[in-house]
Amino acid sequence: QLQSRKKLANGVEMPILGLGVYKMTDRDETLAAITKALQVGYRAVDTAALYYNEAEVGEAIRHSGVPREEIFVTTKVWNSDQGYDNTLRAFETSLKKLNMDYVDLYLTHWPVADKFVDTYRAIERLYDEKLIRVPGVSNHHQHHLEQLLASANIAPVVNQVEVHPYLSQQALRAFCAEQHIAVTAWSPLGRGGVLTDEAIQQIAEKYGKSSAQVVLRWHLQHDILIIPKSVKAQRIEENAQIFDFELTAQDMQTLDALNQNKRFGQDPDNFKFDF
Ligand code: NAD
Repeated sequence: QLQSRKKLANGVEMPILGLGVYKMTDRDETLAAITKALQVGYRAVDTAALYYNEAEVGEAIRHSGVPREEIFVTTKVWNSDQGYDNTLRAFETSLKKLNMDYVDLYLTHWPVADKFVDTYRAIERLYDEKLIRVPGVSNHHQHHLEQLLASANIAPVVNQVEVHPYLSQQALRAFCAEQHIAVTAWSPLGRGGVLTDEAIQQIAEKYGKSSAQVVLRWHLQHDILIIPKSVKAQRIEENAQIFDFELTAQDMQTLDALNQNKRFGQDPDNFKFDF
């Protein structure tokens, strides 16, 4: 069950659990973390041009012994590379660094105001050319999606946004569900910031699970794809042990009630271009 997949709107099956690799900059640490994740059953890795570790992602996958086609690789076009032609070029660079001949999911990293529509047009082209298996976006609010949907030939299949119990994104998730857009949670653990919450800890104790496992399970039961990050072998393993228990409806409600629209990252309507 660790390798369960969600069938996306275009028929591609995406692993529910992936390893996030943001801020993994040390080469050996990155290789070790991805290798560990693949050993314990992860079948997806979430990187980005901005993370400067696409080469390590490709290398770890090639050396893992797991066939490339069993692994789901996501990468993203960075803000300074947006626009139609620039995106096509940035994609080529990512593909070279990964040393692969296709990417599973390619995303607009943030909706740069005057460029995200053209950026997505380039992603549609990459999809037509079968260089990517799934076209998607990240950090798109409903109004960004509506603008894309007005002109897109292929609706984005995935939207990757910040979601955790302090930012449950209920309205955006409902809109995405209506449009058959799958939601992936970035910072699914609130960068670790929700794990000391007393209500979460109490629930965790009841199930004999950790706070991280309870939070990841909450995502799963809401049909949200997850990409928790850790470089620690024990945590990488722990974050995958979420398929052997189920939160009750009441505990789900308790977790839902923790929402306070609190962001640990930036708001897509008001983000700084360079960070
Ligand atoms: P996260 O919510 O996954 O939290 C990671 C942190 O939580 C770790 O650094 C560690 O300190 C802690 N942690 C992890 N597992 C734990 C455990 N079992 N017990 C205790 N503490 C634990 O935060 P994140 O790294 O910001 O997000 C995950 C991934 O999402 C990133 O690596 C990246 O791939 C992606 N992401 C995407 C965007 C975007 O703009 N699209 C933005 C941020 C992150």
